[in-house]
Amino acid sequence: MSALKDIWVLSEKPEMLAELCAGARFLGSNVTALVIGKEEEAEKASKSGADKVYWLGEITGDRIFEDYTDTIYDLITKENPELFLFGASKRVKLIAGRLAARLRTSVLTDIIELKVEGYDLQAKRLVYGGLAVRTEMSTSQTVLALVGRGVFTAPKDYGFQGNIYRISSDKVESSVKWLEKRVKSGESVDLTAAKKVIGVGRGLKRQEDLQLIYDLAKTLNAEVACSRPLAEGLNWLPRERYIGVSGAVIKPDLYFAIGISGQVQHMVGVNQARTIVAINSDKTAPIFAQADYGLVGDLYKVLPLLIEMCSEAK
Ligand code: FAD
Repeated sequence: MSALKDIWVLSEKPEMLAELCAGARFLGSNVTALVIGKEEEAEKASKSGADKVYWLGEITGDRIFEDYTDTIYDLITKENPELFLFGASKRVKLIAGRLAARLRTSVLTDIIELKVEGYDLQAKRLVYGGLAVRTEMSTSQTVLALVGRGVFTAPKDYGFQGNIYRISSDKVESSVKWLEKRVKSGESVDLTAAKKVIGVGRGLKRQEDLQLIYDLAKTLNAEVACSRPLAEGLNWLPRERYIGVSGAVIKPDLYFAIGISGQVQHMVGVNQARTIVAINSDKTAPIFAQADYGLVGDLYKVLPLLIEMCSEAK
């Protein structure tokens, strides 16, 4: 595999930035992280696998994240990196889209794998709701690619620190003005950081029965997740908690799939779990073909026993 020379990365979240740097180091030799935020974030980025950090400063006043597009565009046209990896959050997606428009190119989206073949950079993404994988290649001078959490794995420590360069960003081109910022009600969860995850699906009959799932999660010190219908449609759990092609992609040590049939769109989000345990009343459910351990049974009978056993074993 021939490596690329210059790869840039941008993310709103430091954990994601570290993952992107890991991917960039795998694909190329010089990694530059762009940081929009506090000086501590630039410091952190310099220890996350970037050879160089361009610190564009902290967002102040009524500026918004996308207001930095002009500055980033100027840097790209000056230095021509071969690849720019973006951590796929809402604001970063807006910057990637704007940059693509300026550079007269497109963005490779929803990437699940990136590799260099000869001189070509090839990206894989899921299509048809996760039923097929498409390989794409961009012919742009600077390839723009959006990557989600969990595609690359960041090592614990790189043992080196990159240099930080302060880039002034006075140009503001946005026609969108910041009016108000309010704390979102409800919870926020990072399923990708959890070592143990209990996923629940439509096998659960009533919302109040979620208590069974919370009890098991508490005993195992696990996070609670779900299939899409429980978060979109039934609205029993927040959207941040559903797993799959259009939800979170996780790599826990242990994933419990309870009352989940195991459709491909769900399994795409968990097939990198180290161990999958499935509990389902239908012995023909597809989940059993993908689980390491399967238990055919009614969750309403199995879970109370499991919770009791796990509590005793503690
Ligand atoms: P079901 O398929 O209805 O399965 C319920 C299971 O519970 C069954 O296997 C049943 O045997 C079992 N069961 C019933 N009663 C009990 C009991 N008492 N005890 C034990 N087991 C019981 N889905 C996602 O999850 N994530 C996604 O990101 C996602 N993206 C999608 C994107 C597209 C474009 C499309 C078209 C679909 C997507 N879906 C996604 C939906 C997906 O196709 C499935 O419909 C969904 O995952 C099914 O959820 P489920 O397994 O909870 O429900």
